[in-house]
Amino acid sequence: LVILDGVNKHFGALHVLQDINLTIKRGEVVVVIGPSGSGKSTLCRTINRLETIDSGTITIDNNPLPAEGRELARLRADVGMVFQSFNLFAHKTVLQNVMLGPIKVRRQDKAQVEARARMLLDRVGVGSQADKYPAQLSGGQQQRVAIARALAMEPKVMLFDEPTSALDPEMINEVLEVMRQLASEGMTMVVVTHEMGFARSAANRVVFMADGRIVEEADPHQFFDNPRSDRARDFLSKIL
Ligand code: ATP
Ligand code: MG
Repeated sequence: LVILDGVNKHFGALHVLQDINLTIKRGEVVVVIGPSGSGKSTLCRTINRLETIDSGTITIDNNPLPAEGRELARLRADVGMVFQSFNLFAHKTVLQNVMLGPIKVRRQDKAQVEARARMLLDRVGVGSQADKYPAQLSGGQQQRVAIARALAMEPKVMLFDEPTSALDPEMINEVLEVMRQLASEGMTMVVVTHEMGFARSAANRVVFMADGRIVEEADPHQFFDNPRSDRARDFLSKIL
């Protein structure tokens, strides 16, 4: 569903993505881990076209990027993104936050969009909060709204960049639970996370990045129990 082929990206002199080759199949859950600064967020942002690339190709559902204008907007709508900071619109209610994208970009009928938004909010367990403003919700609730908002665009793939890193410990699980649910429903997901329990239990594949490269790609059990590379072994010894 998502294919990165020979992707390179520089920030000035910094070679932040180095010859990245990665194929994500439909329904697959890929967890990306690695040290700070290794390029994980940049990888997500290039898939979503928030960052340009210098060389290589990114293909989403057989549509090769780069694209421009309307085409870009449509392709971007295929990719849902959830950030560490929830990025909800503070001056809009929870319901309005979830409805905004489909009304603007998908140009769908308002009543239909509202019904679907309420359904999604129910699904992530915050249906009763629909008329509140983001600041009136806990961090875990806000992040679940952010997930509902991304789902409202009916994306083909969901990118999560450290979705639980800004949360208090007791709220981490409620967000991971929603993500597990999504995964079990067959959503294609790329998840950058330090939650190794989630990686072990929900990932089909672990991608380990260091210094802008994919150093190791393995199934989670193999990766955690028997990493092949010294870099991965060293990283795991520091975090587990
Ligand atoms: P973390 O675990 O801390 O989130 P990361 O793996 O997500 O790290 P990135 O945010 O992708 O790492 O950053 C990779 C490198 O690129 C870092 O050295 C960072 O300083 C640099 N970088 C990221 N964004 C920019 C930018 N807009 N301009 C210049 N350098 C950048
Ligand atoms: Mg990051």
